[in-house]
Amino acid sequence: MVIFTVAIDGPAAAGKGTISRAVAAHFGLAHLDTGLLYRAVGAKGGDPVLAAQTLTEADLARGDLRTLEAGQAASRVAIIPEVRAALLDFQRRFARREGGAVLDGRDIGTVICPEAEVKLYVTASAEVRAHRRWLEVGGDEARVLAEVKERDARDMGRADAPLKAAADAVVIDSSDMSVTAATSLAIGIVGDALRAAGKV
Ligand code: C5P
Repeated sequence: MVIFTVAIDGPAAAGKGTISRAVAAHFGLAHLDTGLLYRAVGAKGGDPVLAAQTLTEADLARGDLRTLEAGQAASRVAIIPEVRAALLDFQRRFARREGGAVLDGRDIGTVICPEAEVKLYVTASAEVRAHRRWLEVGGDEARVLAEVKERDARDMGRADAPLKAAADAVVIDSSDMSVTAATSLAIGIVGDALRAAGKV
C-alpha cells in the first residue's frame, strides 16, 4: 500500500499550481488543487457554509473559477471556520489515498495533512508574483499587485488555518529563479523523499 503525501503551500501566484501538476505527473501521483474548492464555494453565491457542504463535481468544473475576482471571493469565504470544516474530510481522504497524492493550497502541511511525507512552501516576492500573474491575465499591473497583497494579508491574517510555512517545510523562494527551475528543485526533493521512504 503506497500512502505518500506531498503538501505544497504558499501565497497566491507563487507557481504552486505549475509545480504541483509537474510533480504529480512526474511521479504518477494524484493531484488536488484545493484553491479550486474555495473558489467554487465563493462563486456559488448564497450561504457559503451551505455551498461548501453541498459542493459537487459540477461546481468545480465551472469555467469562471480562475479569474482575479474568483480568487478574491475565495479568500473571503476561506475565513469562515465552518466552510473550512466542511471541506476538511474530502481533502484529508484525498491526501491519504492509495497511490499517493500532491495537494496544493495554504494549509495542507499545517492543518489538512501534518503527517505529509514532503512539505514544500513555495513563495516569491509580491512584485514577482504579481508580474507573473499579470503576464497571464493582462490589464493593469499595479492593480494585480494590489490584489495579490490584499489576498496575502487576508490569507496570512485570518484566525483559522492562516497561511504559513509548516515548521518542517522546505521553503522554495522563486523570486530570483524561474518557475521551471523551482519545479526541477521540487521534483528533486520529492524524488529524494520517495527513495528515502523506499517507495521507488
Ligand atoms: O490557490 P488559489 O489562489 O486558487 O486559492 C484561492 C483562495 O482560496 C486563497 O486566496 C485562499 O484564501 C483560499 N484557500 C485556502 N486554503 C487552501 C487553498 C485556498 O484558504 N488550502
